[in-house]
Amino acid sequence: MSSAKEIIIVGGGAAGLCAAKQLQKRGVPYRLFEAEDRAGGRLKTDLQDGFRLDHGFQVLLTAYPECRAQLDYDKLNLKSFYPGALVHFEEEFHTLADPFRNPVEGLKSLFSKIGTFSDKFKVAALRKEVRKGSPAGLFERPEKPTYTYLEEKGFSQEMINRFFRPFFGGIFLEKNLLTSSRLFEFYYRMFSEGDIAVPEAGMGAIAAQLAAGLSPASLHFNTAIQEVTPHSVTPEFGDKIEAGAVILAVDGLAASKLLSGYPQPTFNATTCLYYAIDKVPLQVPTLILNGEGSGPVNNLAILSNVSPSYAPPGKGLISVSVIGDPLSSDAALDIKVRQQMAEWFGYDPDFFLHLKTYRIPRALPQPGSDVNLFSGLSVVREDGLVIAGDHLSAGSLHGAMRSGREAADLAIEMVS
Ligand SMILES: Cc1cc2nc3c(=O)[nH]c(=O)nc-3n(C[C@H](O)[C@H](O)[C@H](O)COP(=O)(O)OP(=O)(O)OC[C@H]3O[C@@H](n4cnc5c(N)ncnc54)[C@H](O)[C@@H]3O)c2cc1C
Repeated sequence: MSSAKEIIIVGGGAAGLCAAKQLQKRGVPYRLFEAEDRAGGRLKTDLQDGFRLDHGFQVLLTAYPECRAQLDYDKLNLKSFYPGALVHFEEEFHTLADPFRNPVEGLKSLFSKIGTFSDKFKVAALRKEVRKGSPAGLFERPEKPTYTYLEEKGFSQEMINRFFRPFFGGIFLEKNLLTSSRLFEFYYRMFSEGDIAVPEAGMGAIAAQLAAGLSPASLHFNTAIQEVTPHSVTPEFGDKIEAGAVILAVDGLAASKLLSGYPQPTFNATTCLYYAIDKVPLQVPTLILNGEGSGPVNNLAILSNVSPSYAPPGKGLISVSVIGDPLSSDAALDIKVRQQMAEWFGYDPDFFLHLKTYRIPRALPQPGSDVNLFSGLSVVREDGLVIAGDHLSAGSLHGAMRSGREAADLAIEMVS
């Protein structure tokens, strides 16, 4: 059964869910087909022995304009990180209090060790500069690699290597900081205007909240679509379904398989290892950065300090991020990571009980030149077929959600 006005969405990640939300809000009939058994795409949380394991270390920046519009933050019961970081180098942790919201105060504690006296003022000037104009206006500015941008701003190598490289390397999932300065400025602004948070029940709760607002009869899981045309989709097991229009909200690799001639993006990878601990080595709800560059760990967080519900009572949960997809086997990587944490925290490597390793080779599409998180987020491929998803811009919940909403509006025009 199909109606001439029905819109079919392929993909139930952040983009597909927000497309569905918009169609429902505007009273347009739709069906959403998702290959997996649940909504969320890259936004997922597994429950294992009472631990909540997000698929890769991932956070919500509460200042993201589209997330503010799409999500009910109160119901997510958000738990915030302390806005600074702990940076490990020279066998010690150094506190970076708050370089985003209160840079002068933030740098007081560290400028003897991280960066120079003038870095303190440069961070304050940077904060002022990225807060000028609208967030969308940041994407009209010239772009260059973030590393070049930071060097041109005059930041010292210590400041770049001890703070910017591990912090933004962990966001871009590449440590050379070749990613566009536009994204750097946007994220810097978002950090300065809001919190870094996770929902109490894990990042998957964001997808669950979006899905819960949709009509259950419109959601079809375990249904991979194998062919897409402007006015139809064909499931892997089933007959062709006609539609008024189709929104293709899959990841970049799937889009390149379903659409002839659609370029396959290149991706940045990450590997996330989870550890259970019986005793929490540090109480702070802070991101912990590798400020010396050696060893596999780029950043880690004791997630149960941020949201106690990430671990069962009496236990702690550490999430470790390794950038890329290392050649080492999971077992060999686990040994290296536990060794590094043992050195940092002063415990025996066996103190850290390995729970799970997630290798995510296609975590973030590499943004092209002219990246923009406010326009061109959804594209009309031809009449009846709209493309959405983060591969049109850059990996971010803000961009993916906005892309879905805009794709729905474009598809509605096609069936009106
Ligand atoms: C480890 C990691 C860390 C991240 N950190 C952050 C962060 O801190 N902050 C932030 O804002 N963003 C972060 N991101 C990025 C953010 O998660 C993504 O940009 C966003 O979730 C992408 O949503 P999407 O809907 O475009 O794609 P996806 O989430 O990939 O959704 C696409 C969906 O399409 C489905 N699909 C594919 N092919 C088919 C088919 N043939 N038929 C039916 N369904 C199909 C897939 O199963 C999937 O559910 C991170 C991502 C990862 C992986």
